[in-house]
Amino acid sequence: MALSDIGTIKSILSKHGFTFSKEMGQNFLINPSVCPRMAESSVQNDNTGVLEIGPGIGVLTCELAKRARKVVCIELDKRLIPVLGETLSEFDNVTVINSDVLKIDLHKVIEEHFSGMDVVVCANLPYYITSPIIMSLLESRLPIKTITVMVQKEAAERLCAQVGERKSGAVTVAVNYYSIAKKLFDVSRGSFMPAPNVDSSVIQLEIRNEQEFKVDDECKFFRIVRAAFQQRRKTVSNSISSVLGVKKSVVADALKACGIKETARAEELTMEDLFALSENINM
Ligand code: SAM
Repeated sequence: MALSDIGTIKSILSKHGFTFSKEMGQNFLINPSVCPRMAESSVQNDNTGVLEIGPGIGVLTCELAKRARKVVCIELDKRLIPVLGETLSEFDNVTVINSDVLKIDLHKVIEEHFSGMDVVVCANLPYYITSPIIMSLLESRLPIKTITVMVQKEAAERLCAQVGERKSGAVTVAVNYYSIAKKLFDVSRGSFMPAPNVDSSVIQLEIRNEQEFKVDDECKFFRIVRAAFQQRRKTVSNSISSVLGVKKSVVADALKACGIKETARAEELTMEDLFALSENINM
């Protein structure tokens, strides 16, 4: 079945009485070259198990199933389950789970379905929850090698920015702490049905070894990072002291101890600066 063909999609969806839900971020891919490219980048060998989030009608799922040992997809919209039963019927290596990816225990899913396999995540993400999904995948320290996802172009720029450059934000630091991010390719808004108002990009996060970047108190580190970036137009010193209610002199002393100038803004700090700062601020 040509699942990126508009006529085919319309006929399957009308057969099942399906209408698109904006709330669930349903923009289905209709550009035939995108899914094979995503699947090629994601599946590195035939022992790969792929966790897919939001399969829709299964256009990406089919390309993954052709290349991987197994694909498990998690779809929130129960109306799509019978549709997927039809579109994926030729594959015996695909399991569909009707659940919310932010609520399901992904460690358990991986343990149950991917024993002995190299596990990766691949998805055209629902845009309304892009950051929560990426952060939850990273923070839960799943035993996965890569995350290859389609996100809004603007989000891709923030996620793949270098820490210490203008476009960086708290999410850039978090993504960089857990992974090495790179942009793979851009996808125009016309590649989707219905077409969204913005263009997209496919990015890939290669998960770091847990020991590579490790701070003693991750909770404190991320509180300081969020506070530093929260009031971007202020200096790090002002932003941290006003957001966290820490005395200005305490932040000033910590900056001095780390060799960071008092007028620095969060976007100018490197990963090492941020690690040092979190160690030197007593709160
Ligand atoms: N993979 C399909 C494609 O590329 O055409 C559909 C992608 S569409 C952008 C996002 C999909 O995620 C939809 O199928 C939507 O129903 C599903 N979805 C939305 N929120 C979800 C959630 N919290 N958990 C799992 N799936 C979700």
